[in-house]
Amino acid sequence: MNLAESSFHSSSSSDDLAAILNDELETASSDSSPEFGTDEDEEGLLEQRVKRQRVDSAEESLQVIEDAPVVQQTKNACLHPGFFKGLCMVCGQMEEDDGSGVPFGYIHKDLKLGSSEIDRLRGADMKNLLRRKKLILVLDLDHTLLNSTRLVDLSAEEHHLIEQALTTAQAGDGSGTLFKLDRIHMLTKLRPFIHTFLKEASELFEMYIYTMGERAYALEVAKVIDPEGIYFHSKIISQSDCTQRHQKGLDVILGAESTVLILDDTEMVWQKHRENLILMERYHFFSSSCRQFNSPEKSLSQMNKDERESDGLLATTLGVLKRVHQAFFDEVGLFLKWTSFFFGFLNLFLLQLGETDAASRDVRPFLQRVRKEVLAGCKVVFSGLYPSSEVPSEQPIWRLCERLGAECCVNFDSSITHVIAGCPGTEKSRLALRHGKFLVSRRWADAANYLWRRLPEEDFPVILPNNPPS
Ligand SMILES: [Mg+2]
Ligand SMILES: [Zn+2]
Repeated sequence: MNLAESSFHSSSSSDDLAAILNDELETASSDSSPEFGTDEDEEGLLEQRVKRQRVDSAEESLQVIEDAPVVQQTKNACLHPGFFKGLCMVCGQMEEDDGSGVPFGYIHKDLKLGSSEIDRLRGADMKNLLRRKKLILVLDLDHTLLNSTRLVDLSAEEHHLIEQALTTAQAGDGSGTLFKLDRIHMLTKLRPFIHTFLKEASELFEMYIYTMGERAYALEVAKVIDPEGIYFHSKIISQSDCTQRHQKGLDVILGAESTVLILDDTEMVWQKHRENLILMERYHFFSSSCRQFNSPEKSLSQMNKDERESDGLLATTLGVLKRVHQAFFDEVGLFLKWTSFFFGFLNLFLLQLGETDAASRDVRPFLQRVRKEVLAGCKVVFSGLYPSSEVPSEQPIWRLCERLGAECCVNFDSSITHVIAGCPGTEKSRLALRHGKFLVSRRWADAANYLWRRLPEEDFPVILPNNPPS
């Protein structure tokens, strides 16, 4: 995000603030990368900058007083765009205790911004992003991009992975996926395809890390997935930055909600932003991860395998991100091409119109549209998945299939294409077999949800719950 670039649109003193924030976002991560304990240095830097700013604006004010007393009056009516250690960054006045400021601890631990300033920065940032044909991507860490375990939780069979991690570190060519985080006594396994994913996604999106983990952990992991700090800079949001308990919110992101896509394996924490979310299937590499989620399945390390680079979750998801990004910007482009073909002389005007058009655009309907293609053309009926006393259209499986573009029905008839059943032998299951319809377990719908395509029905047979597939 380049707040400074966008600040030429306004002339308020908060431009200076935008420049400071921008500097801070670009440099904070490199300032703090070698040690955790550099908060002090970081603080010193920002403090110096703010002090310098105050001196500058004081000198400016003197100049202004000489030049035009009218302007001095506007200087006095400071809008207090941001606070540092409780003092306004522009006029130095103490913050009023009305709770209106939002803390931006990941930019700097003592920084708070006023809501009107956040809105202004978001608006300016959006124009700037859209001009660069970029959207915003918020990335969860655990089970989405990687899987971590404490060293003490490694099983005996997994101990050789520590050796393997040390070999990765020695190779040092940036292609490794297994790392020992010495400082916090953990081992982390990156999801296959992550390096390509980050590189290609960064060309289309401004990226944030957003984890419920602690800041020290987030910084350690960031060093592994982004050693040069080119993808995230200091856009690393951790537990202490969340403004609501057990919830992640877009309120701490300096970008408009209409431009944000989120990748996360936990839907619950995004209650307010489900429409921005691409839900990820959990990446369970270590056995401790399965234990943590009470999963009866074996972890990838226990099965001695891994997701494939070519068609694993990250590769699939990158494809979805590209499609949504393209759909978002294509319509603007199409509109411009068409109109400028007919009205070539109005090009400049139309370019502006195109920008306005993009700014009113929302990424959420585009995501919805791509999702609805997944099971388009399927007409499904459910059997044995919820009590008949329940309202069918309120059931999670019904909603899921609907979101994926399938037509959901209560009764079986000849136009039905799929019966999704909880167990074999139900009446609808028998009807499916008799009439040559697909009979699948609900995992068929879940898999379609994660992989964004209709999978071969024969891979999802309906079996008795106590009779797992061999
Ligand atoms: Mg997670
Ligand atoms: Zn002020």
